[in-house]
Amino acid sequence: MLTMKDIIREGHPTLRLKAKEVKIPLNKEDKNTLKLMMEFIENSIDPVISEEYELRAGVGIAAPQIDVSKQMIAVKTMDELNETEHTYLMVNPKIIGHSIKQTYIDTGEGCLSVDRDVEGIVPRHQKVTVRSYFYDKDTEELTKGVIKLKGYVGVVVQHEIDHINGILFVDKLVDDLPEATPVKFADLTFEETEL
Ligand code: ZN
Repeated sequence: MLTMKDIIREGHPTLRLKAKEVKIPLNKEDKNTLKLMMEFIENSIDPVISEEYELRAGVGIAAPQIDVSKQMIAVKTMDELNETEHTYLMVNPKIIGHSIKQTYIDTGEGCLSVDRDVEGIVPRHQKVTVRSYFYDKDTEELTKGVIKLKGYVGVVVQHEIDHINGILFVDKLVDDLPEATPVKFADLTFEETEL
């Protein structure tokens, strides 16, 4: 399993690389990396496991954060209304469209790879269209598809896709975004998690 010592932090050069496209079909190693990434997210929100291993709660992780410079991300979170769970293992994801309208998480973003507290908010697209391969770790099936995401889940995916492009949320901080509508949480549990 992955623990916090496997997560590289701000200053590590891998976080600044443009991650390589993953060869399709997936090899055994890439499948295993995807599994470990999803397992980390699941463990990080498990009250017993996260306390035992001192894991910071996460809703998303990108392969470069575990020093694997490949275009793979894992996301597992509820939407801001606390209604629908979104669980994705994406391979070679690409944002192919987005709204003009912007949004941001009003309490700011956090990141497993950034240990310091920062001030400011991160401008994000309110809606994104993502083309990607989607991996099912149980059936080991890989499906190509296009997905439209909005609000909080859209922000999480934008944050993770930034990681595979060598971008950290701290690069994008602004003081305010008067034109944008912030993401508001129905259940504040998800406000305190890292992306
Ligand atoms: Zn992050």
